Amino acid sequence: MTNQGILVVAEIAGGKVSPVTHEALALAHKLQPKLGGGVAALAIGAVSDAVAKSLISHGATKVYAVSAPGLAAYSPDAYVQVVQQVIAKANPRLVLLGQTDIGRDLAPKAAFHLKATLTMDCVDLGVEGAAIRATKPVYGGNAQAIYESAAALHMATIRPKAFEAMPANDAAHGVVEQVSVTIDQSKVKVKTLEMKKEQAQGLRLEDAPVVISGGRGLGGPEPFVKLEELAKILGGAVGASRAVCDAGWQPVAKQVGLTGKTVTPDLYIAVAISGASQHMAGCSGAKNIVAINKDKDSSIFKESRFGVVGAWEEVLPAFTEMCRELRGA
Ligand SMILES: Cc1cc2nc3c(=O)[nH]c(=O)nc-3n(C[C@H](O)[C@H](O)[C@H](O)COP(=O)(O)OP(=O)(O)OC[C@H]3O[C@@H](n4cnc5c(N)ncnc54)[C@H](O)[C@@H]3O)c2cc1C
Repeated sequence: MTNQGILVVAEIAGGKVSPVTHEALALAHKLQPKLGGGVAALAIGAVSDAVAKSLISHGATKVYAVSAPGLAAYSPDAYVQVVQQVIAKANPRLVLLGQTDIGRDLAPKAAFHLKATLTMDCVDLGVEGAAIRATKPVYGGNAQAIYESAAALHMATIRPKAFEAMPANDAAHGVVEQVSVTIDQSKVKVKTLEMKKEQAQGLRLEDAPVVISGGRGLGGPEPFVKLEELAKILGGAVGASRAVCDAGWQPVAKQVGLTGKTVTPDLYIAVAISGASQHMAGCSGAKNIVAINKDKDSSIFKESRFGVVGAWEEVLPAFTEMCRELRGA
């Protein structure tokens, strides 16, 4: 039987469907007329009615719900078995996941076992004749590569916020099928012993509409208090360059870039950051980049919509004061 349709592997965090899953469902809807079949979602773990409803209202016409002991938290070796078994049942042509911590880990494992082709971190997907065409940034975001796959099964992870979710349609109908799977425990080599929630203050970096990142030019950890102050006024979150995280001035969770987080806010303010390609790989998708740097030749200015040449010690307090006044904060 020819593979048809699209399966979105849902991500559920804190009992809620992650935004990237809704974005994947919207993309699936766009591609479905050319790929045939339907748009289904696979939800693993504690699949509540609210989770199923959220998936259906955002475009899934079928939800495969898999609940079994040991699946409440992400377990690489168990989840890969679930994905394999549900794909064997659903027979999709395309499987979509988010380019998240889980997606990055699960997609290559599943693709290997299923002998599927895989493109990671896609910012565009289309169908050209018999092939699925995937676009992804390469060389630290300086170029885009386009891959085509005519394989029976293609898998892709999508970059968060690269696609827009559809508004929820509460009148949408869908079927929820409880699927029982067999987990071979002898293959479950990695076990989660404990989950520690990161003490995140304020907005998550990935979800923030405004991100203010600091670089090595700040000179130490103390100035980050000033960045936090501005973030609070603008309703944003604070990020950092790798140089800053390597120096221990900020936790690694705040790192933006190739080996850090990818952010796509409406506004990205880079304070005392040089704009190395590896940093820009994590923020070039921002709608507007504003740079504050004392070196007029710094490459960050080539990437920015607006820039101020000056020492952050002078520019930042004045800018923060102006924002406070304008926002009435
Ligand atoms: C494989 C690999 C992966 C990497 N991944 C990442 C990544 O994920 N994220 C990342 O950020 N980097 C990454 N890097 C490192 C990257 O190449 C840069 O070294 C790093 O981004 C530099 O950080 P920075 O801009 O804070 O520091 P610097 O390059 O030292 O720049 C500091 C800037 O501050 C300015 N400045 C200094 N004083 C002031 C002042 N008083 N006022 C205003 N401006 C001032 C300077 O003009 C300069 O432009 C990676 C590198 C490699 C090889």
